[in-house]
Amino acid sequence: MTTLIGRGVVTGVALGRIKRPAQDLTAWLDRYVPGTVDEEAARLERALAGAKGQLLAIRSGPAVDDTLAAIMDAHLLMLDDPGLIEGIGEKIREGIGAPPAVIEACEAYAGLFASLDDPYLRERAADVRDIGRRVAGLLLGVDRENVEPPETPDDGAQDAQNVQDSHGAASAVVLCAPDIEPSVVAAYPPGRLQALLLGQGSTTSHAVIIAKARGIVTVVGLGDALEQIPDGAEVIVDGATGEVSLSPPAPERHAALARIAEQAERRQRDLAEAALPAVTRDGVTVQLAANIGVPGEVENARALGAEGVGLFRSEFLFMGRDTFPSEEEQFLAYRQAAEGCGGHICVIRTLDIGGDKPLPHLAIAKEHNPFLGWRAIRISLERTELFRTQVKAILRAGCHGKVAIMLPMVISAGEIRQARALVAEAATELTAEGRPFAAHVPVGIMIETPAAAATAHLLAPACDFFSIGTNDLVQYTLAVDRGNAKVASLYSHFHPAVLRLIDATIQAARRQGIWVGMCGEMAGDPLATPLLVGMGIDELSMSAPSIPRVKAVIRRLSTAEARSLRDAALALDDAAAIRAYLEEMRTPPSA
Ligand code: PEP
Ligand code: MG
Repeated sequence: MTTLIGRGVVTGVALGRIKRPAQDLTAWLDRYVPGTVDEEAARLERALAGAKGQLLAIRSGPAVDDTLAAIMDAHLLMLDDPGLIEGIGEKIREGIGAPPAVIEACEAYAGLFASLDDPYLRERAADVRDIGRRVAGLLLGVDRENVEPPETPDDGAQDAQNVQDSHGAASAVVLCAPDIEPSVVAAYPPGRLQALLLGQGSTTSHAVIIAKARGIVTVVGLGDALEQIPDGAEVIVDGATGEVSLSPPAPERHAALARIAEQAERRQRDLAEAALPAVTRDGVTVQLAANIGVPGEVENARALGAEGVGLFRSEFLFMGRDTFPSEEEQFLAYRQAAEGCGGHICVIRTLDIGGDKPLPHLAIAKEHNPFLGWRAIRISLERTELFRTQVKAILRAGCHGKVAIMLPMVISAGEIRQARALVAEAATELTAEGRPFAAHVPVGIMIETPAAAATAHLLAPACDFFSIGTNDLVQYTLAVDRGNAKVASLYSHFHPAVLRLIDATIQAARRQGIWVGMCGEMAGDPLATPLLVGMGIDELSMSAPSIPRVKAVIRRLSTAEARSLRDAALALDDAAAIRAYLEEMRTPPSA
């Protein structure tokens, strides 16, 4: 059995047949009969209006969640992009029909995005192609939503199908592509798409964001290895280890089927207990919170057992628009999130722009190495008017619920002092304006640079809390780009260097008497939970679907066991050995 290894981003086991999304419209294009230039222009007008109608319908449909709604909003904006529309018009005037004009212009636009250095902008190439195929599909009379879902699998997939059927799904599909359009993922009915295998290494593409929100097992960063996976092949996907096993023999298939059945049962049990607090057997409580990008996500997070928000990625409010959001707009968003937390804290991270998250209207000069460049707190401390506006909105939201301010990418105590001085200025301005605001909003920092982790004991006196951002901490500690498929297998939060920095951070916070949480992906990895509890973590914040499982793991732990597990793991010398040890010590799934 051949096993490929990528980077697992949504955990779980899936068994299904490989389906490559039908991205080829050639058959329809060949049959298309173009009209005159004016007729084609008129058809384009109608198709653009139709595409807008489709996006608006998805956006207001019953199955929409906030993640999908935000992505559809971004697509609506792209449909209005004058450069793109002009590009299509130009091609129609050259005499080619509207559908190839749309495909070619969008491909050229996507090519521009794909060639950019910036990883975030590169990922938008898939969105542009998605729009192009939607509009071309309308022109060609292709119903995309019905073209993409696969045929019923043949008899060979029967076992897998039976397992899925018993949980309400029609068939087990594993989508496989170098990169994938978000609406292809979104178009699958719940439960039918079991796993997603991508060549690209990003965990922040829109398709991956949808997969996370829906709990679809996902492995990214498979790169050229994807070519080794034949269409229609049966595969086992392990989203925890990033392993993809091709054409598994009978014993492996049966083991996978047993794990899938176990997983489904466990999920039901976890969900039934999701509202209970995460308290260890000996009475230590860990607060489990959610990571959100838009305020509307809070409701679903609470239904999954979230006790507040540990990371509100506020940059989503700033993206996909031409101007900065006003203080009032931000206030309304933060207030909605804070109110939704129902008395729990809502930790709002200040603008984390730069690196993998650019903002076109914030003119950041081209940088050779944007991850080490002008980003996050560095921008806030220079563009102080932006920072003060944001802080004022947060302080005002503090009258409607518990809020906290979290600073990203900190490397020194000086930065925290400067930021605190600006928070005080914002409060003075609000007083002068006579606006109500919360006077004592906690200010904490993300620990996501090795500098911050190594000097956590020096930073702690200036902070009200810490939250460990492992996504960046791992990449900066190991010198492994978090979005680079080529080095995805080196990216591990179980590396001994990363674990030492996490442990030192937690101990520094405890000595200072401030709370310490984690909001990077590691927080939602149930394999890491006993280790983090053993280190003494107070809070774990994660994508909401991960909460029930992590809660269940905590409720079965004792802190004495967790501490000895931490000691043993820290004595091991590499990430693979640590992962294997944690697997071995894992509480039996049935427990
Ligand atoms: C992190 O770095 O762990 C984190 C939570 O921030 P982001 O993923 O938004 O960079
Ligand atoms: Mg980060």
